[in-house]
Amino acid sequence: MAEARIIDGKAVALQLRKKIAAAVADLKRDHGLTPGLAVVLVGDDPASAVYVRTKTKRVEAAGMASSDHRLPASTSQDELLALIASLNANPDVHGILVQLPLPGHIDERPILEAIDPAKDVDGFHPVNAGRLMTGADGLFPCTPVGCVMLAKSAMGELSGAHAVIIGRSNIVGKPLAQLLLRENCTVTQCHSRTRDLPSIARQADLLVAAIGRPEIVKADWIKPGACVIDVGINRVEDSEGNSVLVGDVDFAAAREIAGSITPVPGGVGPMTIACVLRNTVQAACAMAGVDAPDLSI
Ligand code: NAD
Repeated sequence: MAEARIIDGKAVALQLRKKIAAAVADLKRDHGLTPGLAVVLVGDDPASAVYVRTKTKRVEAAGMASSDHRLPASTSQDELLALIASLNANPDVHGILVQLPLPGHIDERPILEAIDPAKDVDGFHPVNAGRLMTGADGLFPCTPVGCVMLAKSAMGELSGAHAVIIGRSNIVGKPLAQLLLRENCTVTQCHSRTRDLPSIARQADLLVAAIGRPEIVKADWIKPGACVIDVGINRVEDSEGNSVLVGDVDFAAAREIAGSITPVPGGVGPMTIACVLRNTVQAACAMAGVDAPDLSI
């Protein structure tokens, strides 16, 4: 069998960001509307700082307004809630993103629930989770939305496909199951207690790994020709002792069996930030009562 097609997440994300930049230019010209994203970073987790810097760069490159709120690790729950209240009330802010993880003394749930659902561009608020589940419009989590776009770019129509998702987190696995149901997939959700995972995975036309275990998904878990989306980001040492990123899928072996597969890095990762921008544009349009542009791929 031929090697799998590599799904180039960088290229798809670039295409999406170009579409977003064009839509932002139209919104500014036709409606005087500049979508604005506020990012809140508490503490000095280095990975979060890199991620926030990339986000800010991409927001500005798309012609949108960005504001960064960097708070010390000692920030109290009440101080963070006060900042969120002020961002909720600020009409120039259309999207609010609180970078996770938060320092241990801050309770994450009340913070995420304090964000106005209309500005919840991460899509983690229970109101948006409920809208996703009940088939309504809303703001939906960025990584799963990016996964669906990549799967469609490789498979075209997803209707009727058997999608097996490994992982059931609130930020990836569960919302992805809902999004794929909306695409009319038959969805099987697996997790750490699933029995005989390889035999279930082998039934998938679309296999998504969102586990966080380096290269746990082996080639013999994959149906020949299936589309494989690897969400995992794991830092490991290679044979020469260098620190490298790998996914949840044994990429080299899997690409001999799969029909299409995302690499790590360069697959799902770049889509996540592009979808944050997309959600911010959609939030800005909804708040201004303007028709949202078509930002599909
Ligand atoms: P999580 O730890 O919250 O959830 C992991 C899920 O995997 C759990 O539901 C658990 O049941 C399941 N699991 C754990 N061990 C398992 C096993 N041995 N067999 C089967 N299932 C198992 O993680 P998460 O936040 O959903 O993230 C998953 C991975 O995706 C991580 O590597 C994370 O870094 C990555 N991630 C990437 C992006 C991106 O933008 N590309 C975004 C979010 C998360």
